Amino acid sequence: MKGIDTRLIHAGEPEPRIEGAVSMPIFQSSTFEYRGEDSYYALRYIRLSNTPNHVALHRKLAAIEGAEAALVTASGMAAVATTLMTIAAAGDRVMAQDCLYGGTHDLMRIEFPRMNIGVDFVDGGNAASWREHLTPQTRALYVETISNPLMQVADLRAAVEFARAHGLVSIIDNTFASPVNFRPAELGFDLSIHSGTKYLNGHSDIVAGAVIGRADLIAKINRTLSHLGGSLDPHACFLLHRGLKTLGVRVRYQNASALAVARFLAAHPRVATVNYPGLETDPGHVRARELFDGFGGMMSFELHGGVEAAEAFIRNLTIPISAPSLGGVESLITRPARTSHSGMPPAERERAGIGDGLIRLSVGLEATEDVIADFAQALEAC
Ligand code: PLP
Repeated sequence: MKGIDTRLIHAGEPEPRIEGAVSMPIFQSSTFEYRGEDSYYALRYIRLSNTPNHVALHRKLAAIEGAEAALVTASGMAAVATTLMTIAAAGDRVMAQDCLYGGTHDLMRIEFPRMNIGVDFVDGGNAASWREHLTPQTRALYVETISNPLMQVADLRAAVEFARAHGLVSIIDNTFASPVNFRPAELGFDLSIHSGTKYLNGHSDIVAGAVIGRADLIAKINRTLSHLGGSLDPHACFLLHRGLKTLGVRVRYQNASALAVARFLAAHPRVATVNYPGLETDPGHVRARELFDGFGGMMSFELHGGVEAAEAFIRNLTIPISAPSLGGVESLITRPARTSHSGMPPAERERAGIGDGLIRLSVGLEATEDVIADFAQALEAC
C-alpha cells in the first residue's frame, strides 16, 4: 500500500480524469438522468450520497484509513447520530466512554431516552470495569481516540478486544487524532467517525462528517442517512476533498508545534496542569506512544487562579482566536465550560473533571515561536 500522503492526493480520484481535470470538478446537480436503475437507492441523487463527488470522497477516505468503505455526512453530529441510530434500536443499549465531546454526550443524554436507547458510561481507561456494565441489550462500545476536552487516551486495544469478545460494534470518534496519527481499522475497530469540520477539511470553512469502516455497516448507515437526510452537499464535498490533500503536512506540523507549546506551558509557573498525551508525564502517554504516529494538535490546561485567570489570559492573547471548534489552520482557544461543553449539566461536567477554568487549545499553522512568545506575554500580563 502507498504511503498516506500519496493516498491523500491520489486515492479515489476518477479514472480517467474528467475532461483531464487535475482537480475533481463539482457536480452541482441534485438529480441525474435515469439509466434504468432497478432500486430506489441506486438512483443518483444528492441525498442518497452517490453523486460523483460523494463517490470519489468515499474512496479517498476509506483508502487513507485502510478501511473497506466510507460515507460522508452533513456534519460530525450527523455521522455520530446516524451511526448510533443504525446500530442501536429501541430497547438496545450503548456502552460509552464517560468523557466525550459535549454534543455526543447531549445526544446520548437528551435524545436517546426519547428513542428508548439506554447508555452505560464507563471509564475508558479501566477496561476491567467494563464487564459489570455489559447487558444482553448492549450493542456497541463507543470511545474517542483522544477525548474532548481532557485529552484522555482510552484503552483502545482493550476496546477492540472487548467488543469482539461480546459481539458489540466497536465505534471510535477519531476526530482529534486524524487519520495521519491513528487509523482505527488497523487496530480492528469496526467504525471510525470524524467531524470533517476539523482536521479533515482543516480550514474552518465547512461543516461535514464522515464514517469509515466495515462495508456491511457503512451500507446500513448509508440507508439510515438517506432516511434521516443528513447528507453532504457536493460543494462541501469538493471543499472537504480539497482540504484532505494537505492533511499530512498540516497534521505533522501541528503535532510538532503542539508538543513545543505543551512543553512550554508545562514548565511555566502560572500553569497548574496540562493535558497533552505527548508529554511524558501525561497518563495517556504510554498508550499514545504505542498506538499513534503523532500526539495531535489539541491540548487543554488550567492556570493557577481559575476562571478569572483563564479569561484574562485568553483576552491577552493576540494570535489564537477565542472560538470553539478546532483543527483549522489558525490556532483557536476556548473555555469548554462556556462553549463546547456548556450543554452538559454543571454537576456532570464537574464529575467528568471538566473544570470551569479549563482552557482548550487547537494549535494552528502559525510559526511555533510566535505562538509561544504570545503565550509568554499573555501569561505575564494576566
Ligand atoms: N466529535 C468531536 C470529537 C468533536 O469535537 C465535534 C465537534 O466539535 C463533533 C464530533 C461534532 O462535529 P460537528 O460540529 O461537525 O457536527
